[in-house]
Amino acid sequence: MLEVKDISFGFSQHPVLRGISFSLDEGQILSVIGESGSGKSTLLKALYGLYDLDRGTIRWSDKKILGPAYNLVPGEEYIKYLAQDFDLMPYISVRENIGKHLSNFYPEEKANRISELLEIVELSEHAEKKPGELSGGQQQRVALARAMALEPELLLLDEPFSHIDSFRTSALRRNLFSFIRKKGITCVIASHDSVDALSFADKTLVMKNGEVIREDHPKKVYSEPETYYTASLFGEVNEIQVSQMFPELHTEKTIFAYANELQADETSPLKIRVKASYFEGGYYLIRGLHQGKTLFFNSPNPIPAEQIVAVRAPIDLVKKRLNAKD
Ligand code: ADP
Ligand code: MG
Repeated sequence: MLEVKDISFGFSQHPVLRGISFSLDEGQILSVIGESGSGKSTLLKALYGLYDLDRGTIRWSDKKILGPAYNLVPGEEYIKYLAQDFDLMPYISVRENIGKHLSNFYPEEKANRISELLEIVELSEHAEKKPGELSGGQQQRVALARAMALEPELLLLDEPFSHIDSFRTSALRRNLFSFIRKKGITCVIASHDSVDALSFADKTLVMKNGEVIREDHPKKVYSEPETYYTASLFGEVNEIQVSQMFPELHTEKTIFAYANELQADETSPLKIRVKASYFEGGYYLIRGLHQGKTLFFNSPNPIPAEQIVAVRAPIDLVKKRLNAKD
């Protein structure tokens, strides 16, 4: 089990991590989400033992993770950390980079492992190239494969897909997480991409300004977001007075509704003046105004500017959000 107890850390006088606590069972996947600068990368580095903490402890099973003051070579054997900026060996091939930490004592096993990883990151056909001949995204995939090569007990991934084309990310993500599950690797992934948090994690931490403001199952974080900050990490979101959609519910409360949760509904009292339609692939994101406030909703078709549209969220969803607020 990974056990983080009340850790705080700062650069000089500037606090970056403030009293963070959480635990993670072996074999589980944790996603850490939060706006840029909220402390995700610093947390991962602390977990890897790159910092001397001002306060608190980090344990991995019965071992305490110590900072550089106690550990001549920072980083632990059983942990692999993939930095946001990956460093590859420029003069050896992709194949050799991936196998860099693998023993030469079992050449056949080593070759098989490398082939398996090359397939996972979809680089088999580039195996003999040097990193310099690859794109940024391809280099990041090599770094990912190398981090997984030794099947660490604990794998720390910092924005592992940030340089990779989005059309490639989904398959890669599925391959990667199924490998991690199959091998029972415990994994912490920092990401600004909500898909990583929602589809693959057992648990999600929401970070804001160096603090963990939410620790929950990803589906609950999404469907019961509690704060505008948390909801906005998953896409365009609206804070709406329930009475503007359902006066009959007799409440003064507001709820958060994602753009995809508002639907055109002629019978709704909530009228929006459309300002712009943005093509998003499978649908249009519509930006409009209601009493001077910007609202977003999705529509299958673009809507002309200045047209008035009545929208609302389904009543069941509204009731569920209201209950979650109590
Ligand atoms: P995130 O990964 O969520 O974007 P970071 O952990 O990289 O956030 O950064 C959190 C805060 O710590 C930021 O305010 C950043 O400027 C600061 N910070 C990060 N690294 C350093 C450093 N080496 N020296 C001083 N401040 C740093
Ligand atoms: Mg970061």
